Amino acid sequence: MMTQYLISILTEGAIFGIMALGLNVIWGWAGDFDLAYYGYVALGAYITLVLTIGRQPPPAQYILGLQLPYLVAVLGSMVASALMGLVVGLIALRQLRGIYFSIVTLGAVYVLYVMASQYVPLFDGYNGLSGLFNPMADVLGLDYNSYQYFLLGFCLVVFALVVLFMLRLSGSRFGLALRSLREDERAAAAFGRDIYVLKLKAYVLGAAVGGLAGALFAAYLSAFNPSSWAPIETIVLYSAVLVGGKGNIKGVILGVLVMVVLVQESTRFLPDIAGNPNIVPALREIVVGGVLVLFLRFRPQGLLPERRPVDRQLHSYTVANVSTAKSSDTADHGTNGTVEQEEQSVQPATSVVVSKSRQVVSVEDEPAILVVDGLYKHFGGVAAVNNCSFRVPKGRVTGLIGPNGAGKSTAIDLISGFKLPDAGTVLFENRQIQGLPPHRISRQGLIRTFQTPREWGGLTVLENVLLARLDRKREGFWMSLAGTGFIQHLAPEAELKRAREIIAEMGLNKIGNERAGNLSGGQKRLVEFARIRMAHPDLVILDEPMGGVNPVLGERMAQAIEGFVASGTSVIIVEHNLPFIERVAHHVVVMAQGAVIAAGPFDALRSNQTVIDAYLGEVTV
Ligand code: ADP
Ligand code: MG
Repeated sequence: MMTQYLISILTEGAIFGIMALGLNVIWGWAGDFDLAYYGYVALGAYITLVLTIGRQPPPAQYILGLQLPYLVAVLGSMVASALMGLVVGLIALRQLRGIYFSIVTLGAVYVLYVMASQYVPLFDGYNGLSGLFNPMADVLGLDYNSYQYFLLGFCLVVFALVVLFMLRLSGSRFGLALRSLREDERAAAAFGRDIYVLKLKAYVLGAAVGGLAGALFAAYLSAFNPSSWAPIETIVLYSAVLVGGKGNIKGVILGVLVMVVLVQESTRFLPDIAGNPNIVPALREIVVGGVLVLFLRFRPQGLLPERRPVDRQLHSYTVANVSTAKSSDTADHGTNGTVEQEEQSVQPATSVVVSKSRQVVSVEDEPAILVVDGLYKHFGGVAAVNNCSFRVPKGRVTGLIGPNGAGKSTAIDLISGFKLPDAGTVLFENRQIQGLPPHRISRQGLIRTFQTPREWGGLTVLENVLLARLDRKREGFWMSLAGTGFIQHLAPEAELKRAREIIAEMGLNKIGNERAGNLSGGQKRLVEFARIRMAHPDLVILDEPMGGVNPVLGERMAQAIEGFVASGTSVIIVEHNLPFIERVAHHVVVMAQGAVIAAGPFDALRSNQTVIDAYLGEVTV
């Protein structure tokens, strides 16, 4: 009796473990709160049944009615759930995010539920399907008693395989790319990720794993009907992933042990209360809900929070000849201290202004890397960008200035593909790029930053920098299965070395293993600069990189910008700190009310009456 009980909870635990690991791909890694998930499990169970149990006498009616070997049915279930995941994902992941995505997935699972329970010719409605007795037992010649052990062993083996598979994925470049979507999708697109395709891959993969769990569940229950997939099951799965530790494979397994095995089974030992058999299952749901609320309130990261890889070489990394630190004032305080230390030792940016002797000649006639022509963007009645045209000389720093609301950020969004222009053309390296999605523009070598820092907060500084370089082959799903799962697998040695070097250059190596989200505003900006350095684009557009940053970091940023140019990256920088613009920019474009009102060397603009009226009049130069 007791052994039978143990066998059954262990089998159930293994099956729920697989379910939770599939959900973890979608929610824990890709960050999508999917309410359709249990539908993939249910579909897997139904498909296994209709592929194995054969025809049953009327009134039973359902599709297929095949008698295929169980293992074939398992594969069929995975394919069916993956296909349904593909259809739902194609619709729900295209534009919708957050709660809107969840609502669409809830709608999808509801459609499946109504179809399965009401449309009798599909899976026999409320009766459901039954009759999958001890699959594989006849082939193996097992009797009833030994079959339970066999099924437990089979489920444990499949569970172990799923765990190994997930461990591979977790430590791979593919897994890292998925997490970058969870942390900040716009930044992921800015560095060349096709968000839609990547999210779709995660979604279909999760759905297929759900289908696999459903196939095992069908063998365990030998039947499946609409009452087997009450809404509570989805909540139990989410609570398991959350309580254990979202994103962490060991955490998810622990979560299943706690929420599915412990909580669920402990209520089973309660005596019948007042002869009411419904009280015990109800208590179970109350306990699950209560634990979930407590964790959300007091420990949202779960029992075993997601861990990030630590690179031991980073701390001791020193750069003998840091390429950006050429001037003597940085050599003095070195580049290996943390930013905190340097924030005290660096003199304010204003004191280093005009350190560079520069000819006041126009660079407007030099070859252009970017030509913006007649760009328009209206938001309702607001003409945010209104016939905006300018050229950006190659190999130079172009300052883009103008009052708040002039349309600078919107123009950047239009150029980089984050918004669609109403009209106008954008030529980048003589190719038209207007209207392309952001990842395609980024892959052509144009990378932008955002007005607010968009670091991948839950990932380390090193991971942030490694992700800046898109390696499509290495990041592929199949490649991820071939790897070892250690940090060396995330990037080839040379690339890893380069990332460490860049991090040291930015003075971030002491905090290179920290999560980027824990850094100060200025440090986050330096992480963004490090990512640009790593990506090494042909053109970078920096939207107010000094905004909200301690001005003592100005010198380091100026040097970083000089470093970009020295390495062959042209720069556009939006900035309100005009001494800074004067110091770094060879060419300045002034915008007001959506259009460019003047362009030229900074000194020439200083005396331009239109510019003074529109902008310079209100700021101190
Ligand atoms: P800047 O970056 O130069 O300060 P923006 O490009 O942010 O200017 O904004 C230009 C104008 O467009 C402002 O009037 C702003 O209110 C408006 N705007 C920007 N984005 C939107 C949006 N998504 N919806 C409506 N209005 C917007
Ligand atoms: Mg702006």
